[in-house]
Amino acid sequence: MKAILYARVSSKEQQEEGFSIPAQLKLLKDYALKNNYKIVKEFIEVETAKQAGRNNFNEMVKFLYDNPEVKIILCEKTDRLYRNFKDYVTIDELDLEIHFIREGEVLNKDSKSHQKFIHGIKVLMAKNYLDNLSEEVKKGQLQKAESGEYPSGAPVGYKNNLETHKIEIDTDVAPIILKAFQLYALGTYSIGKITKFVYEQGLRGKRGGRIWKGRMEQILRNPIYYGWFRWKEKLYHGIHEPIITRELFDAVQKAFESKSKPKGRKHLFAFSGLLTCGKCGCAMTAEIHKGKYKYYHCTGHRGKCGNSFVREEVIDSQMGNILKNIEIPADILEFTKEGLLKSHKDEKEYHDQQITILQENYKKIQCRIDKMYVDKLDGAITESFYKERIGQWERELERVRESIGRHEVANRSYREEGIKILELAQIAHRMFVKQEPSEKRKLLSFVLSNCTLEDGIVSPQYNLPFSLIANAVETNDWRGRRGSNPRPPDRQSGILNQLNYGPLLC
Ligand SMILES: [Zn+2]
Repeated sequence: MKAILYARVSSKEQQEEGFSIPAQLKLLKDYALKNNYKIVKEFIEVETAKQAGRNNFNEMVKFLYDNPEVKIILCEKTDRLYRNFKDYVTIDELDLEIHFIREGEVLNKDSKSHQKFIHGIKVLMAKNYLDNLSEEVKKGQLQKAESGEYPSGAPVGYKNNLETHKIEIDTDVAPIILKAFQLYALGTYSIGKITKFVYEQGLRGKRGGRIWKGRMEQILRNPIYYGWFRWKEKLYHGIHEPIITRELFDAVQKAFESKSKPKGRKHLFAFSGLLTCGKCGCAMTAEIHKGKYKYYHCTGHRGKCGNSFVREEVIDSQMGNILKNIEIPADILEFTKEGLLKSHKDEKEYHDQQITILQENYKKIQCRIDKMYVDKLDGAITESFYKERIGQWERELERVRESIGRHEVANRSYREEGIKILELAQIAHRMFVKQEPSEKRKLLSFVLSNCTLEDGIVSPQYNLPFSLIANAVETNDWRGRRGSNPRPPDRQSGILNQLNYGPLLC
């Protein structure tokens, strides 16, 4: 029996015993030997947090398409093979037998539904793989920050020492920075003038031009120059050499204060603009009480309506629940995904048919070209006639190739769009909890069209297709009929049918 193996590690994992590529290979090869599988090709992937693409995964898929006699993948465990549903669908389509050796699991098209269900959950977990990886990187940076080392690229005035991985003073630039602080502390220079000054002194932006005013202000407000630094909104005592004194820094901050006029900050309130008054239909607005409590209330443009003031926290927790309401139960998610594939069978058949016709066409033209070449060799046609016709046919070939490509893309895109929606619905709540107010806004305005607020209660209006998902979750109606016992959705009714024809994400 022919098989291939797939191994994958992150660069971080590689340093740890047991996760390394050799360890995975040994496990897989021992297994193959024991079960009499012949490994015809190995696909090995080494990943970093930054480089998300998986070249060898794609190569493997191509290999499996080209070599249909190979039906077995050997892999250590689920999250080695897939990172998201797209990967899953890709592999699933190939109709293979997949052996997850560490998990002692073999999956093929005859697997029991509960086994497939559990597998689906595992794939969902694998989706977190890259997220976790970047979490790990963040953890490393935090450790660095806590030990007083600046965890990122050196700010202007400093440079990274590639050997010690620490920052050190850039002796060309640091004196200019010092002078800029000294000048601005006088209180008579504008930011514009300082920007001009540092440019004249030879300081350049990343593209070799003048540093813009906003950037200059960032520099003058950055505590790193007196020996501290900000990391993830916390201030750390650095071990690097300061360029200015704390006193000079404070004097500069005072100069900023005396110059700045109070300005409204944008998007300070996560939900303003997303809510209308449930009593009178006016917009809801927000303000800060006692310096920290954010309250939402009706603008009252149509007179007093009697709607109450509501704390932002109260709205926040309700918004969280609103997003929880579009979390599809995992078993349904699996059925849904399958249904998504099946329900586009007609469409797929059409494209497949077109592809077949085009491919036959392609072969015909290719034949003509070959035959003409023989005629030319035999001297039956002239060189110029040959050149003219050959150019024409080659252009024709190119057109056919393009058409085939278009049909192939059409075959793929509907699935990807549907899966994107399902994935977003699945993680929206988790994303929401972790986000900054401005990100919460973005997420909510994507999922919700409008919400009303009445006496502290938020009533959501979901955008399509999330409204369909929310409705189905609420009524447990996944097939167009109510039922407590979910079964795979059919094509004629229910959410799937509507999902497919509803506006999809791009
Ligand atoms: Zn009102």
